[in-house]
Amino acid sequence: MEQTTYKKRIYLSSPHMSGKEHKYINEAFETNWIAPLGPNVDAFEKEIADYVGVSEAVAVSSGTSAIHLALLLLNVGKGDKVFCSSLTFIASANPIIYQGAEPVFIDSEPETWNMSPQALERAFKEAFKEGNLPKAVIVVNLYGQSAKIEEIAIICNQYGVPIIEDAAESLGAVYKGKASGTFGEYGIFSFNGNKIITTSGGGMLVSNNREALQRARFLATQARDAAPHYQHSRVGYNYRLSNILAGVGRAQLEVLDDRIAARRAIFQRYFDELSSLPGFTFMPELTDTLSNRWLTALTINQYEAGTSVTEILNTLNEENIEARPVWKPLHLQPIFEDMSYYSHSEDESVSEILFNSGLCLPSGSNMTEEDIETVIHHIKQTVIKRKDRADMFRT
Ligand SMILES: *Cc1c(COP(=O)(O)O)cnc(C)c1O
Repeated sequence: MEQTTYKKRIYLSSPHMSGKEHKYINEAFETNWIAPLGPNVDAFEKEIADYVGVSEAVAVSSGTSAIHLALLLLNVGKGDKVFCSSLTFIASANPIIYQGAEPVFIDSEPETWNMSPQALERAFKEAFKEGNLPKAVIVVNLYGQSAKIEEIAIICNQYGVPIIEDAAESLGAVYKGKASGTFGEYGIFSFNGNKIITTSGGGMLVSNNREALQRARFLATQARDAAPHYQHSRVGYNYRLSNILAGVGRAQLEVLDDRIAARRAIFQRYFDELSSLPGFTFMPELTDTLSNRWLTALTINQYEAGTSVTEILNTLNEENIEARPVWKPLHLQPIFEDMSYYSHSEDESVSEILFNSGLCLPSGSNMTEEDIETVIHHIKQTVIKRKDRADMFRT
């Protein structure tokens, strides 16, 4: 019989349970709080609000629905413009389309890989000249690294345009002593299965505007008027988080700091082993910020490295290791090809450079030391093999 050896799959970022999730889930079952809403939802909201230091949080079914609610609260509608980071997951921008509004994409800058203040400034200047300012700016904190939010906020304040901070990937990250996700009028987090903590699916909308978040709760529960007979005066949504999933979230939040420490340690291991390879440059961490290092990301200059992102991805894939290119910028997505885009400078599009040379490595907090060594080994092997071939051709 043919022998097949199965290599254990090493995932990019898989759920990492703490073991205490059952306690909260069992409580929900014992008290029959199986419906959406209930004590776990209330407690999870309060615990997240306390953790990041805002007055209020609303637990919802996804990070995407949290962004949608934020746009609704800011009255973004048909024909409005919304500025949005280009280098991100599509969910940052889809809710703009749900509202019939038009996204305008803003490039990254090299120090955080996030929204370029100088590109944002150019976009604002033009919009102002045209008398068509955006209704909101969606700023993304990629892979756990905060954007240059201070510079961005100064520009937005100058034009009186509110910020929605898409902190789906950056829960627990810190910018100048303050929690990521708390800088805009609204912040959003995601608890999707691949994020730093998870409820399998879920999200959170946070703000210091209590009244607005009360309205978010109303909109997220079918916009039901205060009447016993199910009366509705406007369209609503079914966006709340279930009481069972909120229980998972409560147990996950208890170990968030451990998860951040673990992901940062994984980044450090990769950095120590790989950063001296020619052409390998790791995603920077801005001074006075602490990234949660959700994913370890780096760029590879293929001329210096003698190998490319594609080649490394192929090798890792053959070894049953899940790695990914950096997000494809939204202004390059077929669905958004007609939308405007402001690059970092006239002749440099940073997000395109990062997309063409960027790689995300397995970063789950449940990776073993052996897993990490396996990934490092195969990357080094790819570089050595390529170098040998290049030397052979040279002589
Ligand atoms: C995951 C993610 C979202 C969406 O969160 P979901 O909970 O999956 O809807 C939005 N923005 C960014 C940057 C993300 O990574």
